[in-house]
Amino acid sequence: MLQLHDLKFKPFISSEKIDEVVTRMAIQIANDLGDEVPVFVGILNGSFMFVSDFVKKYPKPCEVTFIKLASYEGVKSTEDIQRLIGLTQDLSGRTVVILEDIIDSGNTLYEVHRIFKNEKVKKLIIATLFYKPEAYKKDFKLHYVGLEIPNKFIVGYGLDYDGLGRDLPEVYQLKTDIEMTNIVLFGPPGAGKGTQAEFLKKKYNLVHISTGDVFRYNIKNKTDLGNLAKSYMDKGELVPDEVTIDMLAAEVEKNSDANGFIFDGFPRTNAQAKALDKLMVSKDSQINAMVALEVDDEVLVGRLLERGKTSGRADDADESIIKNRIKEYYSKTAILKDYYSVQDKYYGVDGVGSIDEITIRLSEVLDKL
Ligand code: 5GP
Ligand code: MG
Repeated sequence: MLQLHDLKFKPFISSEKIDEVVTRMAIQIANDLGDEVPVFVGILNGSFMFVSDFVKKYPKPCEVTFIKLASYEGVKSTEDIQRLIGLTQDLSGRTVVILEDIIDSGNTLYEVHRIFKNEKVKKLIIATLFYKPEAYKKDFKLHYVGLEIPNKFIVGYGLDYDGLGRDLPEVYQLKTDIEMTNIVLFGPPGAGKGTQAEFLKKKYNLVHISTGDVFRYNIKNKTDLGNLAKSYMDKGELVPDEVTIDMLAAEVEKNSDANGFIFDGFPRTNAQAKALDKLMVSKDSQINAMVALEVDDEVLVGRLLERGKTSGRADDADESIIKNRIKEYYSKTAILKDYYSVQDKYYGVDGVGSIDEITIRLSEVLDKL
């Protein structure tokens, strides 16, 4: 995370990725221009880093110059473009390639076209490293676009926020704080996890994401991810974590106005826990807690045997099967307990008592988060 003045930014585009894009643009433009010796015109201030890297990668002779325009105030593009330094040389008859760091509303580009209207250049070509299609309001053709990005404020690689951030070799995106409370809910079989999830969901307006349900939904509705998951299952293989994470990401996306999520049945491994963290960071959020219902084995066995009498579930009727399921639960979740404990995010909740009593204990934990 990065703090500039009053705002927080999160990593968005790595310097490796930028390098790749700049190289691709330089090669492509060189190929398209053939024997022409172009004049590259950078738009200061933002484009200085892009222009510098671009011309180093440009494999043929070229000229470089700059004009200086200013439009941004804080994090908003303004209509009022100031021409601080205009053209200082005659470019008539030349092939001019404008190098912009970013095209947002297109106001700056409008000003660029005004500057060049009477210059009698042979050709005016627009190349921009970043482009925000959702923000663009003009019709000028963009001949070369490095990367299309969402309409969110970025800094780094020449781009600033009130003067800061231009020096960064990678690009960061403004972090918008949506305060969500996200928990992963654990509990051994018979601990009453389902009942409690139902309650938490209502009380805190959380969305309950049960991985099992999500799988069944995707497979039943033959979504792309469901079909993909099924192709592994049909071969008797485990569904790769990325597929599961993509399904969960889609659920999170669908419920973007929720106060948070209860993840149930995921993660099961360290790798999955990390993937889930990454997913939440991409949503400007985080996992706040692992909440685990703790219930003595004897109590669980008793409860499950009791349930077996009425539920008809075969695996609820046999004491040794039940004990095995409980043992398996602890061996699998122990790793995650460690994972979340080191981050101070593990909350064990006594799961013995009436439903209401347990609900109260869980609420106490959630209220603290
Ligand atoms: P436009 O005039 O197309 O709205 O914006 C172009 C100029 O605004 C760019 O050259 C850049 O200086 C600034 N700009 C646009 N979007 C961003 C952004 O996300 N971050 C920063 N730091 N500057 C931007
Ligand atoms: Mg600029």
